[in-house]
Parts: sequence; C-alpha cells; structure tokens
Amino acid sequence: MSGTVHVIDHPLVQHKLSLMRSRETSTSTFRNLLREISMLLAYEVCRDLPTTRIPIETPVGPTTGPILDGKKTVLIAIMRAGSGILDGMLQILPSARVGHIGLYRDPKTLAAVEYYYKVPDDMTDRDAIVVDPMLATGNSAAAAVTRLKASSPRSIKFVCLLTCPEGLAAFHGQHPDIPVYTAAVDERLNEKSYIVPGLGDAGDRLFGTK
Ligand code: URA
Repeated sequence: MSGTVHVIDHPLVQHKLSLMRSRETSTSTFRNLLREISMLLAYEVCRDLPTTRIPIETPVGPTTGPILDGKKTVLIAIMRAGSGILDGMLQILPSARVGHIGLYRDPKTLAAVEYYYKVPDDMTDRDAIVVDPMLATGNSAAAAVTRLKASSPRSIKFVCLLTCPEGLAAFHGQHPDIPVYTAAVDERLNEKSYIVPGLGDAGDRLFGTK
C-alpha cells in the first residue's frame, strides 16, 4: 500500500536542510533554520487550500479577491520537536488554531503511548496539518493521525523535515490517504531508529538538551 509523498526540493529548503544536518550547527542557528524552513514548507503545503472570493473596497474602487475558505486551519504539533515547525508555520498562518499531541515510545512494546492530547473542540471541517520534524519509525505519526481522524477534520496532511523509506511504508501502511510533505527522504533507519544520515535527535538539537 502506498500513499502520496511530496518532496519539497526547492533550493532554499535544501540549502537550509544541509546547514541543519551539520553537527557543527549551533542550537540557536538550528532553531532559526527550522523556523525558516518551516515557513517555506508551509507555503508548499498550503498550495491547494480552497479559496472563496469576497467583495473588497480598495481605495480606488470595488473588486473581489480570494481568501482561504472554511474554518481556520489547525496546526497539530507532535511534542516535543513538532513545536519547532509550529513556530515557523504560525508566521505564515498567524490565525491558525493549534493542537498538541504528546506520545512516548513504550520501551517494552515500542508502541506509541499517548500522554497528552489537546486540539480545538470544533475540529469538524477544519484542515489539519500535523507537524513533526522526523518521520522515523512512523509509529508516533500514525498514532497521532489515528487519534486525529476521530475528530473528523475536513483534511489531514503530515509535514516533516526528514523521513526514510521504512517510516513512509509504516505510516502509509496505516494511513494511505494522508499525504506526507518532506524536505528529503533519507537512506534508512539505523538500529536505534535514527534516520541515516539524518541530523541526529531533532528535539535535542532544537532545545540544546544534549
Ligand atoms: N527522531 C529524531 O529526532 N531523529 C531521528 O533520526 C529519528 C527520530
């Protein structure tokens, strides 16, 4: 079973991603780059959002113009590294609603276990964009989307910075209907479930916790 994968190969995105991969990149630079790259990803991810025309009075006269149609988009950050992408996307979508999903990996079963879930009450008919920098095993991404589907949004997209064939296969195995947007599909997962070559632990690099 396979699903749609959009690789955002714009030179600005690829340039910033290369800087983020380097182990020499500091926490503050990494954070800034993630915010910048997330704005560029948001631009692509929102390309097909539906619009509707409204009447406008310009200083010169009447016209009509398109605005985003429907309820406000909701950005769903998978904690904790998802908040890095959230910051950049909110600059492009300043009135978006925001939800958070917290998941940890059970050390015995390796299953994703939810410890936090808070999304807007009225999800029906909203366009949801789920964000997490690394789609690695795909377990937490798939669990987050399963949970979100129960709230009946109009659409769901998944946005990450990096993924790998194993993660995509696992995610689309459960959610073939959900498109994935990413800056790159790397080679593989290693035995510790890190993406290779990847960029290391996105949360630690973002928050300087290691
Ligand atoms: N999570 C990360 O932060 N990095 C990886 O390489 C895989 C999962």
